[in-house]
Amino acid sequence: MRTTKQTKHVQGCWGASSLGDCDGKLSREHTVSECFWGDTSELISVQGMRWCADAPKMVSVASMTAKVLCEVHNNRLGETVDPVAALTTQTIKESMRLLEVRKKIGSRTYNVLKFPISGPRIERWFLKTLINSQSLINSRFALVNDGIELPQMN
Ligand SMILES: [Zn+2]
Repeated sequence: MRTTKQTKHVQGCWGASSLGDCDGKLSREHTVSECFWGDTSELISVQGMRWCADAPKMVSVASMTAKVLCEVHNNRLGETVDPVAALTTQTIKESMRLLEVRKKIGSRTYNVLKFPISGPRIERWFLKTLINSQSLINSRFALVNDGIELPQMN
């Protein structure tokens, strides 16, 4: 006997077709995860999206959201993928700090420090961020940066 799994689809959730099992209301998702930024009240310069294609605009990190994921997918991705983005950001900052300290010391030998990061999870975070960007601006050729245009993913 063959059974078909019933899945819910929340209208407007980009995870519906690829991840399945939507549930809850459509919820606000940060285009780039909050944890990526140090201070969410900070203003950032954004350019390349439809609403700022010609000139950069200053917007708050907190305002860079769109209702593009259902509550289940927003929470699931926030719990599994966003922490790796935060760890990656912290690792890069720590690496830069160590570089500066070691420059001052001037020694030629250092202890090797390892900062393990999950490759598949950071890849998922990059994909999530790309899809969020595409969903936010809802444009066929939405991401334009230095002349490179990325086609819309269907
Ligand atoms: Zn969903």
